[in-house]
Amino acid sequence: MRSKFVALKVDVDTYAGTRDGVPNLLADMARFGVKATFYFSMGPDNSGKAIRRIFTRPGFLKKMLRTRAPAAYGIKTMLYGTLLPAPMIAESFPHVLRDTEQQGHEVGIHCWDHVKWHDYLPWFPKHLTAMELGRGSALFEEIFGHRATTTAAPGWTVSPDSLEVQDALGLSYSSDGRGTAPFYPVMAGRRFRTLQIPTTLPTADEVLGENGVTPDNIHEFYCSSLKEGLNVLTIHAELEGGSIRSAFVRLLERFQADGVRCITLGEVAREMISAPACELFMGEIPGRAGNVAIQGDVIP
Ligand SMILES: [Zn+2]
Repeated sequence: MRSKFVALKVDVDTYAGTRDGVPNLLADMARFGVKATFYFSMGPDNSGKAIRRIFTRPGFLKKMLRTRAPAAYGIKTMLYGTLLPAPMIAESFPHVLRDTEQQGHEVGIHCWDHVKWHDYLPWFPKHLTAMELGRGSALFEEIFGHRATTTAAPGWTVSPDSLEVQDALGLSYSSDGRGTAPFYPVMAGRRFRTLQIPTTLPTADEVLGENGVTPDNIHEFYCSSLKEGLNVLTIHAELEGGSIRSAFVRLLERFQADGVRCITLGEVAREMISAPACELFMGEIPGRAGNVAIQGDVIP
């Protein structure tokens, strides 16, 4: 009989999520002996600017209300970059980043400016894409004393330029999109050499409030969604390490009881012997406003 594995990917989007959510997750994961891959937002927290998506992304407001985002993210976070200045994230809490690695977790780069990348990447000239990742990489190296080996795109937003810059950084793997199994991306007819490990399960904010899923039963939803072999779950420091922390602890309890093993994305990458080339395109998925990177057909 095959067993079930869950690779845990943690996106850290905000100043408050780095300060409070990451230490909470580290404590909860230590209790269960679980290791994960954390992706940090390195630059400014401009979360307040995301409010413009009410006008630019159909379904954004509905999702905000359905997931009670103001309660989850806190009022201050909703104003950063607008009524309040954008605080610098990694620079403010370098010890939180280092603690994460010292406790045996993998660490990588989520971005420099999350909101800017998520909202404007398709319009970035190539040098700006390179600069965003370059600034993130430079600060990462300063904090950890070594280069990053992995990145995960904010809001699952990629472009051929961002994939090219990732190749140039010499990464071991990235986790930029949604799909079913690891692959090498082909986008707009261009082939790239950085392995992609896609998120296979929906995120909590995509399923909460839909089909009767609540913080009280979301662990049941995830346990019944797991398939044999590899599953990849993205959690957020702001949610699973904050407003739905007890739901995440229940999920870890269930994994332990059911013999589901939690692994890091790096373990997945190291065990890959071969992976197909697959199309990677921006498209829509249920529960999320706007487009995300999706794994497409195998390309021979
Ligand atoms: Zn993010």
